[in-house]
Amino acid sequence: MFNKHGVWCQCALVVTMTITLASIFSIQTLTVSQDIFWSGILIITTVLRFSVAEHRKMIGLDMDTIVRLLNKWYIVIDSLIIASVMTTFNLWEIFLSIVFSFACSYLPYGRYSIVIALIRWPDSISAIIALRIVSNYYIQQIMKKMVGTSVADLNIKKLTFVRAGSILIEANIIWHLRCHHRFPHVYRYRAILMGFINLIFAIGWCQMYVSETKVSYRATITKIGHGVTPSLNAIKQCPVCKGSVTSLDIEDAFD
Ligand SMILES: [Zn+2]
Repeated sequence: MFNKHGVWCQCALVVTMTITLASIFSIQTLTVSQDIFWSGILIITTVLRFSVAEHRKMIGLDMDTIVRLLNKWYIVIDSLIIASVMTTFNLWEIFLSIVFSFACSYLPYGRYSIVIALIRWPDSISAIIALRIVSNYYIQQIMKKMVGTSVADLNIKKLTFVRAGSILIEANIIWHLRCHHRFPHVYRYRAILMGFINLIFAIGWCQMYVSETKVSYRATITKIGHGVTPSLNAIKQCPVCKGSVTSLDIEDAFD
């Protein structure tokens, strides 16, 4: 799996997909509005994350638009975390939290506005919120280091590894929030446990049937773009990633 980093994020998304299905299949009359709300949040998270991980045109939108949507969606998830920890979590408070997080996102370091959710440390999800902040910070740092290195460099693997980790952290946070607000307010371990069992199967399947991710020492990253995707084949299909990497034509000459 070490050289198959093109599928690491898709593997991590198996956990998000499992809890999405668990949420959809547990919709019941007593909690129907909440169940639809959390199922909707999980479906959007899964679709956007999977589209970016696959890095192909999907749901009729081009890749750059999907990456931008995911970046905005990241802020919405932050808002839900803030609203959950700081308020009574009614619709008006959720709306105000979304406005607050979007306003902050235009400020320097505004993407870390979620740190205010740590004020109530040690809340039951403080530790995973801290992990979300740390993974977000490392993603930004690694992306800066990637400029000037090749697509075959270790940095792109580090970036993909932290991204896959951030997907697992996000899935855990959303599931935790859902259980916290849904009657009978008990954390359901089974769905997360099933998600991680499915993850092990997904890794095993990729190990056996997926070929190594195509990379090249000749393809150098010249700018961050929207975060260069790990596979050279996917880079060639994405105009933004293609514009962030040099020597792709030379690479073709060696095919
Ligand atoms: Zn791209």
